[in-house]
Amino acid sequence: MDNIYLVKYGEIWVKGRNKYIFEDKLVDNIKNNIKDLGNFKVKKNLSQILVEPILFDTHYDEALIERISNTFGVVGVAKVYRTKDNSIENIKEIALMHAKEATEGKNQRFKIVAKRADKNYPILSQQIASEVGGYILNNTDNLTVDVNTPEFILRIEVRDEVYIYSNLVAGVGGMPVGTNDKALVMLSGGIDSPVAAWMIGKRGVVIDAIYFHSSPYTSERAKQKVIDLSKKISQYTGSMKLYVVPFTDLQLHMREKCKHEALTIVMRRVMFKISEIVAKRDGSYAIITGESVGQVASQTMQSIYATNDAASMPIFRPLIGFDKEEITKVAKKIDTYDTSILPYEDCCTIFVARHPQTKPRLDIIIKEEQKMDKLEELINEAVENIEVIDIG
Ligand code: ATP
Ligand code: MG
Repeated sequence: MDNIYLVKYGEIWVKGRNKYIFEDKLVDNIKNNIKDLGNFKVKKNLSQILVEPILFDTHYDEALIERISNTFGVVGVAKVYRTKDNSIENIKEIALMHAKEATEGKNQRFKIVAKRADKNYPILSQQIASEVGGYILNNTDNLTVDVNTPEFILRIEVRDEVYIYSNLVAGVGGMPVGTNDKALVMLSGGIDSPVAAWMIGKRGVVIDAIYFHSSPYTSERAKQKVIDLSKKISQYTGSMKLYVVPFTDLQLHMREKCKHEALTIVMRRVMFKISEIVAKRDGSYAIITGESVGQVASQTMQSIYATNDAASMPIFRPLIGFDKEEITKVAKKIDTYDTSILPYEDCCTIFVARHPQTKPRLDIIIKEEQKMDKLEELINEAVENIEVIDIG
């Protein structure tokens, strides 16, 4: 008998014949996410994944479970007792030991859920549950059976080997990163865009990031913050590239040429144009932003309409219908919030009008943009001078 970690996955099943591609990716991603915690063998086994510690300090148990449960594609993970001896006597003994250990003598209502994946096993699931349940009842004095409102569920799975456990931790779900190509997130350093990146990553998409930096108006610390956020995101989505675009000359040029009320939208359009060029070079099929309707002046329906026009590739706005509180909740859960709220300046707030238009008209914006006679030249220059930072 030994301890291993049993990983359950869900949605991957819908993929029919491509199932193995998804499973293999998930195995790779789990391996990658836990490699600094020890030495593990990660393998598929009949629609589940087993993580077997080879060299592992169980002090890091919680961290290990957290890493696995945060891997996109995982719907549940449990530390289980595994035994190859599938006799009912052996199962009873291990189940009893585990029930005692897990309930620590506290009075609890329990039930047993038994599953027999091996249909040749001579005892039916229901019967396994009642035999083991009876044995536990007779050999403890703190436990009572309650199949409707149990406080403690002991699970037994009989397969080619037997797994016994009670502590199934929910995973984040989604699909394994790498099963859905790549997208480029416009990462600003605020609360929203890291959450947007995480949400698309959760659909199996590899993420790279682009950040518009207006040195010296935005400091090195502001850039470092975006690097730190990228590192957080890459814990979920794997290694990524961060493109840092030198944006100052473009911003100075637009400030000189365009009406102040139009600056916010023109600036956002230029960001989209550059992002699209970079995305195409990068092999990305979409741009991701952290926009949500009505959140700020640049995110009214008219503003989104006027900026969207600047790029032709799909723009994903996974937060479009979210309230700030909902976004903040996810940001805290994925641990980007504390970095996002560090108070460093942001290029958008430096040059733009204090009272930007909330109902810009596309034709007027385009006229303003056309006043920038060096637009194309400066875009090319900015793209040529991008700094590429490898993260993770
Ligand atoms: P966030 O919390 O993500 O900063 P926000 O509420 O501040 O968003 P805006 O400043 O209007 O909203 O930015 C909207 C989106 O545009 C951001 O979510 C991000 O995707 C992108 N963006 C804004 N500024 C930058 C920047 N300097 N570099 C890269 N992307 C940016
Ligand atoms: Mg912002």
